[in-house]
Amino acid sequence: MVQKEFKAESKRLLEMMVNSIYSQKEIFLRELISNASDAIDKMYYRALTDDTLAFNQEDFYIRVSADKESRTLTIADTGIGMTEEELERNLGTIAESGSLAFKKENEVEDGRDIIGQFGVGFYSAFMVADRVIVNTKSADSDQAFRWESNGVDGYTIEPGEKTEAGTTITIYMKENGEEDSYDQFLEENNLQSIIKKYSDFIRYPILMNVTVQKPAEEENGETEEVGEEQTINSMVPIWRKDKSELSDEDYTNFYHEKHYGFDQPLKHIHINVDGTIRYSSILFIPETTPFDFYSKEFEKGLELYSSGVLIMEKCPDLLPDYFSFVKGMVDSEDLSLNISREMLQHDRQLKMIAKNIKTKVKKELQTMLKNDRENYEKFFQAFGRQLKFGVYSDFGQNADDLKDLLLFHSSAEKKPVSLAEYVERMPEEQQYIYYASGESIDRIDKLPQTELVKDKGYELLYFTEEVDEFAIKMMREYEGKEFKSVSSGDLGLESEEEKKESEETASEHKEMFEKMQNILGSKVNGVRLSKRLKSHPVCLTAEGEVTIEMEKILAQMPE
Ligand code: ADP
Ligand code: MG
Repeated sequence: MVQKEFKAESKRLLEMMVNSIYSQKEIFLRELISNASDAIDKMYYRALTDDTLAFNQEDFYIRVSADKESRTLTIADTGIGMTEEELERNLGTIAESGSLAFKKENEVEDGRDIIGQFGVGFYSAFMVADRVIVNTKSADSDQAFRWESNGVDGYTIEPGEKTEAGTTITIYMKENGEEDSYDQFLEENNLQSIIKKYSDFIRYPILMNVTVQKPAEEENGETEEVGEEQTINSMVPIWRKDKSELSDEDYTNFYHEKHYGFDQPLKHIHINVDGTIRYSSILFIPETTPFDFYSKEFEKGLELYSSGVLIMEKCPDLLPDYFSFVKGMVDSEDLSLNISREMLQHDRQLKMIAKNIKTKVKKELQTMLKNDRENYEKFFQAFGRQLKFGVYSDFGQNADDLKDLLLFHSSAEKKPVSLAEYVERMPEEQQYIYYASGESIDRIDKLPQTELVKDKGYELLYFTEEVDEFAIKMMREYEGKEFKSVSSGDLGLESEEEKKESEETASEHKEMFEKMQNILGSKVNGVRLSKRLKSHPVCLTAEGEVTIEMEKILAQMPE
């Protein structure tokens, strides 16, 4: 039998698992049960959509059994199973989804963070096991296979014995260490509560042999202990449950179980709509920006279920781009199981659901801004840029939806403020919303152009991101107040009289300005007298719509 090496990344992750000091080792069970459930989903879906297959509800289950004698824990499912190639590909290389993130963060030395932050999938078994055996038979093959590994030395694959499609995973528990007890994962009661905690809503029964007290045979009033197979999970999907039954922890567990994210979600939104459209949905606003969020690789989307059956893992049509940070799922009875991706795009029901979701998310964010400022600022720090892109894209069509959600750093408050707050504070005579663009707040503060506005006692918004100025150009105004860059020609700070005075002074020094203009040549459009300066002798300003900062960005853009 040939011993095969794990791919480099898998090996690193595995070593981390083997040596893990992560305190919540119990999540390995969540990961294995979730894989089993995914595999049954695939089988279930087939049985539902393929008329040639018999469909029996009772054929779909997950069975967990512990044996203290041999120190083994077994998780068996009646799912789709794996072929030899699939075994090789799925368990020999690092899994795609959650663990992919690990690649970017692999500088982190301490496994604790990684396990907490990213879903580690199948390999998490090695936090508790020193040997794992996977017996599997694919529904598409007559031959079963047996995969075995002790984690460090690689793995072997050989033909196996299994006759029914599905997968059985056997875990050999590590010996108890000084601080760690692995025995706990063989204890019936403990296993039950771990399953309840993380996997309660799994749609298939999770069966376990449980010891129960029964009246003794002899009817002498005594009881005896007998083993009885029980379904441990409630099997009601969390989204079907009543909000009042659920705690924040339930939602967070669901978020982690589903690998929506590995942070603590900032907010969850639980929707149950029963009207012209019918759907349930649980949505999350994450706390931190996914590492690939602002890259081309990032795919937005929500999980889509049809009457509890997963039909698409990332349905992009449910979210506008500017809310692409939203994670979660939608379940609707009105969608057909067999609906294709193309058909979905044009599905009327789906469009209505998407519109509804958009409104709910927007409302939730507005409420958060109003009532939970601290968390909103955290949110905006992570995803505000996406909202600004939203204002800018589609020729400003979404500006109305998003304008109240924007925050900009303010000179008056020294913290991010909303446009509504800015306008509310404006003195009566102030005509414009003033802003200044630059690399950082510090740099902007040093701009001579900002002095006059601040001197007037007017509040100034700091635009430190490239998209800021483009976004507000799309909006043009907020509540009837136009935006004005401190670098633009006329700041609207002078009275008619002052303007006249300036013109006179300018013509008095006409010759000097002409001379300066000659020396600078085509580098500038003109040299003019300025009233905006206080402690600086000169400053650069732009004429027209495009400011100097925007020109810089435009110059960097590919043709
Ligand atoms: P993920 O579930 O995020 O894909 P995992 O590391 O948990 O990552 O699993 C890797 C892959 O191994 C799965 O995507 C699946 O293809 C396969 N797999 C794991 N467990 C099972 C199982 N019980 N039945 C069938 N396939 C499985
Ligand atoms: Mg998994």
